[in-house]
Amino acid sequence: MPPIPWRRVKDWECVACGSCCRRFYVPLSREEAVGIAAKYGWDKLEIVHGKTVLKRVNGGCIFQVDNLCSLGNNKPIICKTWPILVMKKPVYGRGEEAAFQLDEMYYIYVDLRCPNIVLGRPSRRLVDRVIPEAIRIRRNGGPQRFTTSSLRTPIPLITISEIGEPSISLSRFPAFSLQQPRRLHEPPWLRDLTS
Ligand code: SF4
Repeated sequence: MPPIPWRRVKDWECVACGSCCRRFYVPLSREEAVGIAAKYGWDKLEIVHGKTVLKRVNGGCIFQVDNLCSLGNNKPIICKTWPILVMKKPVYGRGEEAAFQLDEMYYIYVDLRCPNIVLGRPSRRLVDRVIPEAIRIRRNGGPQRFTTSSLRTPIPLITISEIGEPSISLSRFPAFSLQQPRRLHEPPWLRDLTS
C-alpha cells in the first residue's frame, strides 16, 4: 500500500510496538554507518543488496531492546522520522494533499505500515509539532520530542577503546557521500521483510 498524504491523517504517536524494528532493514548513510560503528562496533552492521544496514538478529534490529531502540539520539534518520516520509517532490502522487509549507515547500506522506496511525482531519499536534519536527530531523538530524515514543530505555554505550580498531575495512561498505545529504525527493530505502 503506497504512503498516503498527511492531509488524510488525524494523528500519529509512536507507542513502541516495535513492529517497524522487526519488519524492515534499516539503511544507513555513510556518516551514520561510521558513527554507529565507532560507538558500537562494526559487527553491528551488515551489507544487504549493496546497502549498509543495521544488523538483524532474532528477527529484528540488533539495537531493539524490549520493543525500544537502544540507540537513542544515535538512531538513523529514517528511524527517527518513520512513518513520516519527507519529500521535496510529490513522489507518491496527490501533490495538493501532500504539500506542506514550512520555510519551503515539502511533500509529506505517511506510511500505513505503522499500525498506530489515526486517519481523519489533521490535528494541531500533527501539523504544528510532528511534521515540522520530522522535516527538521530529515534536514539536520537532532533530537526527537514529538516523533518518538515517550518510553525510554538505557543505552549500553560501547566506547572505541572498548571495541578497539575496526576489524572491518570501511572500503567494504558502499560509498555514500559524506557531503551530500540524502536527496529528499528520493524515497527512503526500506526493505520490507514481510513482502
Ligand atoms: S513507529 Fe509505529 S510501528 Fe514503529 S514502534 Fe512506533 S508505533 Fe510501532
